[in-house]
Amino acid sequence: MTYYVLPLYHLLMKKCPKCKRIQEDDKFYIKKTHPNGIVERRSYCIECGKKDRDAWRKANKAWDDARNNAYNKKHARIIRGHKLKTAFWPDLTPEQALEKYDEMLIAQNGTCYLCNGLDKRIHPITGTRWQLAVDHDARTGKVRGLLCNAHNRALGLFNHDIGLLERSIAYLKKHGG
Ligand SMILES: [Zn+2]
Ligand SMILES: [Zn+2]
Repeated sequence: MTYYVLPLYHLLMKKCPKCKRIQEDDKFYIKKTHPNGIVERRSYCIECGKKDRDAWRKANKAWDDARNNAYNKKHARIIRGHKLKTAFWPDLTPEQALEKYDEMLIAQNGTCYLCNGLDKRIHPITGTRWQLAVDHDARTGKVRGLLCNAHNRALGLFNHDIGLLERSIAYLKKHGG
């Protein structure tokens, strides 16, 4: 591919039809860069474009918010599917990873495998409980179950060491626990 350098291009001036000001062309957003290197810019300058968008947003706030929320919700699910896939189920598609999680959640009655409770934390954005964490064996990559944050962390603090956990139980029993 051959690139043509246009050394003086940045010195071009351009007139905005809205504010009538003549400004350097970098005060206008790029609309498209053509394969031949020619840069096409928006007709309104950046400042007028922003004013227009702000005015539009102000007039359509409720509708725009609803649309953004719907968009974010839809994407949140896909993003979560990708995260689950990458971290725990590399052989599954993001959609299958989500299904796998739901399957496990139903099998555990929607609660932590250890305490049969929910995560104590409230998610700052959704206002609902945090979803249970996927607990897996870091050495084998094998998923064990779904745990609330507290018990997922607790196992981590015990290094998933069965001997250490058994000694902890014996210790508590010895002291009347
Ligand atoms: Zn302008
Ligand atoms: Zn728990």
